[in-house]
Amino acid sequence: MRVLVVEDERKVASFIKKGLQQEGYATDVVHDGDEAVHTAISFGYDLVVLDLMLPGRSGLDVLREIRQQRPRLPVLVLTAKGALEDRITGLDAGADDYLAKPFAFAELSARIRALLRRGSQQNTRLRLADLEMDTAAHQVRRAGHSIDLKQKEYALLEFLLRHANRPVTRTMIVEHVWDIHFDNVSNVVDVHINSLRNKIDKGFAPLLIQTVRGVGYMLTDRGRVHRTE
Ligand code: CA
Repeated sequence: MRVLVVEDERKVASFIKKGLQQEGYATDVVHDGDEAVHTAISFGYDLVVLDLMLPGRSGLDVLREIRQQRPRLPVLVLTAKGALEDRITGLDAGADDYLAKPFAFAELSARIRALLRRGSQQNTRLRLADLEMDTAAHQVRRAGHSIDLKQKEYALLEFLLRHANRPVTRTMIVEHVWDIHFDNVSNVVDVHINSLRNKIDKGFAPLLIQTVRGVGYMLTDRGRVHRTE
């Protein structure tokens, strides 16, 4: 899951970013309204945390713009404490939830989980052949055997399952599983694909993770993949 944090106060922004990263979210931060709109609609975020008081374009403007271009992207708005009018305007403008500052990180985190659950409610169980992922319980099984995955392996597998039987590029993977400033991109994807293969494919048949030459990877139960470029 990939989260964009829009917050001009650097301390608050880095506090949120650190907390979210520890919980396994790929997290990017931008500090002003103009950059926020551009970033939010240019990359595949799963959720935006948006402060309303921003320099340049206001948070409400940003929210309206995001709503126009990405109607289903969940947005959690941060407002100054007691600014009731802000909250009402924010909800009217299309915020999915709001949180008054100052807040405890645990509350922010719980609200983010709730919004992400709401967005993927029909889809808490992902399945391909005998591979199953229960995103509510955070569990993976292959042929009934429980499989222990590290955080990034889990995020990578979830992304592959949500795009099952379609080829995905390393760039797509990185954009959803790692943050924007991550270097050494293709190597880190390949390393995690290999460790995932050892856990979900080794000793099982058929092999589900396939390399699509010249493109990237594909999770599929439809036999060998041909070059598609
Ligand atoms: Ca602010």
